[in-house]
Amino acid sequence: MCSLYIVKKIAVDIDNILWDFSPVFWERLRRINPDIIPPTVWNRWDFWHQYVTTKQLYGAIKEIHLEQEKFRPFDDASLFLSSLRDMGFYIIIASHREKGTIEPTERWLGMYRLVYDEIHLSSDKSVLFNDLCAVVDDSPSVLDKAKAAGIVRAGLRCPWNKDTDHPLFDTLPEILSYLKSVCNTAHG
Ligand SMILES: [Mg+2]
Repeated sequence: MCSLYIVKKIAVDIDNILWDFSPVFWERLRRINPDIIPPTVWNRWDFWHQYVTTKQLYGAIKEIHLEQEKFRPFDDASLFLSSLRDMGFYIIIASHREKGTIEPTERWLGMYRLVYDEIHLSSDKSVLFNDLCAVVDDSPSVLDKAKAAGIVRAGLRCPWNKDTDHPLFDTLPEILSYLKSVCNTAHG
């Protein structure tokens, strides 16, 4: 849990947390296979298996990440991050994306005044968990690992996580209220 006496670190995901990744992802996947089902029925994290190959999937994801600046963040993403900073959090933007996408990612964060202290791009965010007091993510696997590590976790409710037992919310301000209720803050 969060403590007053150490630097409080929080990891915040990008895709489907700071911006609406899934409609763009669907559009890219449909170019590969027009039969692919829409995000509203992506009820499993691995929904894509029967439609595209792993290589095609990661290719589509990388293509989007390289063009990150084309896409707007959620309207409340900037206030969400600045409010976390006001709560005393050290903010790690943690995204499962290739290291080669760091520059467009940095430019995008700057372009939309999304405040942060560090960027972590990797396929396994749990390497950060020893040092964190909270994680904001939509991935069931990341949320499961955060639960197992005993750290605060929260996410936006999505078709692929809605049946899990994690603290899920419909908006970023709701996540913020939850974090305020469960994390000690520098201002009490
Ligand atoms: Mg995500």
